[in-house]
Amino acid sequence: MLEINFDFDTEGSAHEDAFLDAYELDMLFQQTSQSIRAGLERKLADVTCAEHGNAPRITITGRYDRETEQMDLNYHVDTCCQLFLVRVVKLLNNV
Ligand SMILES: [Zn+2]
Repeated sequence: MLEINFDFDTEGSAHEDAFLDAYELDMLFQQTSQSIRAGLERKLADVTCAEHGNAPRITITGRYDRETEQMDLNYHVDTCCQLFLVRVVKLLNNV
């Protein structure tokens, strides 16, 4: 079973006139994680390692920088073996 984890956080100190307040940031994190999850589930539904039968584990790290007001997203994929990792990354890069 595909496992998806999110690690979202903010960095830096907020501007006086911040574009997003704490509530809006929370909404942004929720919406972003929902759309990422939907995309991953679509791409990786029922994808398991042919040799070991394991599903991938994916961790998405999102950092919202309050200085620049930009969100930085990073994907980290964990798999049982290198061969399967290559396959999962290839699937993820397919649009
Ligand atoms: Zn494997």
